[in-house]
Amino acid sequence: MPWLSLIAAVFALLWGSLWGSFLNVVVYRVPAGLSVVHPRSRCSSCGTPIAAWHNIPVVSWIWLRGHCSTCKAPISPRYPAVEASVAVLSLALAMPWLPALLDPAALLDPAGLPWRPLLALLGEQAVVFTWVAIALIDADTFLIPDVLSLPLPLVAIGIAAVVGEQRGVDLQMAVLGAVVAGLGLWLLMWLYARMTGREGLGFGDVKLLASIGALLGLGAVPVVLLAAALQGLAFALLYALLSRGKATEERGLQSLRHLAIPFGPFLVLGGIEWLLLHRLGAQAMAAQGLWLLD
Ligand SMILES: [Zn+2]
Repeated sequence: MPWLSLIAAVFALLWGSLWGSFLNVVVYRVPAGLSVVHPRSRCSSCGTPIAAWHNIPVVSWIWLRGHCSTCKAPISPRYPAVEASVAVLSLALAMPWLPALLDPAALLDPAGLPWRPLLALLGEQAVVFTWVAIALIDADTFLIPDVLSLPLPLVAIGIAAVVGEQRGVDLQMAVLGAVVAGLGLWLLMWLYARMTGREGLGFGDVKLLASIGALLGLGAVPVVLLAAALQGLAFALLYALLSRGKATEERGLQSLRHLAIPFGPFLVLGGIEWLLLHRLGAQAMAAQGLWLLD
């Protein structure tokens, strides 16, 4: 039933865009200590509440050509960019679960509803979407709020307890992943601080990596950490190169050495890459008759 897959894919995109819209609110309000549900979204320039028809993810921003409908102040393109990215992420995370979710035999039999694949998908999305919020807040403020990072390892371990078999990360691997990743990074942090006398990473990163270890399992931790470090380093070098003129004018080499880049966004990037690419690899092997996930 290709039309059913198409409807499911469109639904996954819409679902993700709505979450993206909510994440924009979270990223803006949580660091400021504001409620994420009240009051409703308003223009940050003139304070006019945003009407529902001006709050449609991506579409409204394009329709309003990136400006507030009341005061015409520009609205950052980051808002629609986050909405579109989370929409695509939602679809990418849903893809591996669609065959199980759209299984006609299961859909026709109410007792056979595929609630485990649905729970696995929603659980993965809940953790990954929270990672996206953490990455953006860390990029903005160099801080990872506890209210987001602290429950995550427990949520991910809970997912392993309920649908570990379906996801290929059982409870043992999830707990080991959380503990080894959290303790490992904490040890690295401590050593770095002892050797250099300054803090390179924060405890937010420790909790974040613990949640990555819990959702992806112990085996993913070294790969994600390496991918995050390499991509963070590549970004830092690029950033230093591009801003070299300015930096040398200001404080010379000193500013390059103290170039501060948050690690959280790169941990999140590594975690998402592993989650999506690992599945692709497993699917390719499944196509050749080597079934790993089941
Ligand atoms: Zn306005």
